[in-house]
Amino acid sequence: MSERHPDGFLRHARAPLAYRDPRARSRDFTEIYARHWDAAVLAVQGERCMDCGVPSCMGGCPLGNLIPDWNDLVHRGHWREALARLHATNNFPEFTGYTCPAPCEPACVLARNDAPVTIKHIERAIVDMGWREGWIRPEPPPRRSGRRVAVVGSGPAGLACAQQLNRAGHAVTVFERDDAIGGLMVYGIPDFKFAKFRVARRVRQLEAEGVVFRPGVGVGVGVGGGAGAALPLARLREDFDAVCLAIGAQAPRELAVPGRELDGVCLAMDYLRAENRRQAGRAVADGGALDAHGRRVLVLGGGDTGADCVATAHRQGARDVVQVSIKPRPPERRPPDNPWPEWPRTYRPSYAIEEGGREEFSLDSCAFLDRDGDGRVDAVEFERVRWTYDAHGRRQARSVLERGLRLQAELVLIAIGFAGAEAAALGEPDLRTTRAGTLAVDEDMMTALPGVFAAGDACRGPALVVWAIGEGRDAARAIDRYLSGDSALPASLRSANPPLGL
Ligand SMILES: Cc1cc2nc3c(=O)[nH]c(=O)nc-3n(C[C@H](O)[C@H](O)[C@H](O)COP(=O)(O)OP(=O)(O)OC[C@H]3O[C@@H](n4cnc5c(N)ncnc54)[C@H](O)[C@@H]3O)c2cc1C
Ligand code: SF4
Repeated sequence: MSERHPDGFLRHARAPLAYRDPRARSRDFTEIYARHWDAAVLAVQGERCMDCGVPSCMGGCPLGNLIPDWNDLVHRGHWREALARLHATNNFPEFTGYTCPAPCEPACVLARNDAPVTIKHIERAIVDMGWREGWIRPEPPPRRSGRRVAVVGSGPAGLACAQQLNRAGHAVTVFERDDAIGGLMVYGIPDFKFAKFRVARRVRQLEAEGVVFRPGVGVGVGVGGGAGAALPLARLREDFDAVCLAIGAQAPRELAVPGRELDGVCLAMDYLRAENRRQAGRAVADGGALDAHGRRVLVLGGGDTGADCVATAHRQGARDVVQVSIKPRPPERRPPDNPWPEWPRTYRPSYAIEEGGREEFSLDSCAFLDRDGDGRVDAVEFERVRWTYDAHGRRQARSVLERGLRLQAELVLIAIGFAGAEAAALGEPDLRTTRAGTLAVDEDMMTALPGVFAAGDACRGPALVVWAIGEGRDAARAIDRYLSGDSALPASLRSANPPLGL
């Protein structure tokens, strides 16, 4: 296909790539996406792109992915060139092509009054094709700078930072406290949303390019990983010319209500991590406590982590699953203060709810109950609440509409977010944090410690894989400038929305 019709969006309807049938997929841990796709169908979808003078989709993508370029290249059958354009802004397009909620799509001009271009699926198809055809290979740097950089944390931010710095010629070592490389991509996001071989394949690519990985080494005070090794940050600062802290924002947010100590009440991340480990054939020391099989499960928290818990519980054979949100049910249509091209704050059932289970809204948890006195939770007590919001959409006053509501459960999963970066564990009192609990950085992404930078959730707060990759790329550019005085590494669009700073 070569000729391009500028009115392709009038000729063709949106046809996203297929997902597996919800009932069938909820019985296994294989990815929820249909494996096979047709290049001809994708080429037609690429023609729906209007190649707008001001591509607002690119503004919706935190990486500033060159979306109209690769839509056109795919339409014309130039897949390899499309892959090169994709890699120009994104180190790991399959990480985003499979997991990104695609803020670019509601920002597509077509989304104003029609269905947007299938941007995310075209991205995924390009990178799938790249791996299938063997086009994705190690790209070691032509020469070395003689400078050494330590990256702490191996999530998408750390990996993107490491690859960029290595390609700029610096010698990079990645320290990871866990026994596996990948951060939340490995011990967070469930296997059925993102298969782990995709991370392992990239790790092999980075190793072949010269990046050194040290799993099982925690940096700071008493943060030994699986192997129990711990390395003081001061030591890294002596041994390396620069350090990037890409430690995520995994400090758990607790729900301090009566009964929290009961058996059967646990943090969502402990639960998800245990299942990730089981799927990888690694040891799980929970004695079966973190298994939903045959149990009624309550997931407290209406967000994406909560949805991943719902879907995992179904796959473990839960008797019944309810996801509870403290917020009201979002409206079906965009409210007036939420116009295009903003991310729509409307109700969409999650992939997990499409598979089964029930949602409850406007419920605030008051107590975990043990009515038969056996030390195990058997119900949760709630109040039905109504909130008033300030001009920024933040919750303000709370009024109680109904008290004493109870839902039965033998397993309760707390998925109410995170309290910030685990900064105290780094054991550096001069490392400043923000009120949100993230690492404070200046406009060059440097922390209060000279030569120590930060990237990803660690300084943005819990966000998305696409933000983490953008942050990692930008930190690499800042570090390269710090070490070399200048940098040829590209910046991402993230700089238009910087995190909280020093
Ligand atoms: C359950 C769940 C599901 C999600 N699903 C999605 C999704 O579908 N799509 C999406 O876009 N985003 C999703 N996210 C968010 C996404 O995973 C994160 O935004 C992203 O992984 C952040 O990347 P990061 O590199 O900044 O940090 P992380 O991925 O958190 O990695 C940080 C790494 O640093 C390591 N570390 C921490 N402290 C130390 C130390 N002192 N020494 C050595 N190592 C250390 C940690 O062990 C970890 O491996 C999800 C998050 C969760 C929790
Ligand atoms: S990374 Fe996410 S936001 Fe950017 S183009 Fe891909 S799907 Fe869209």
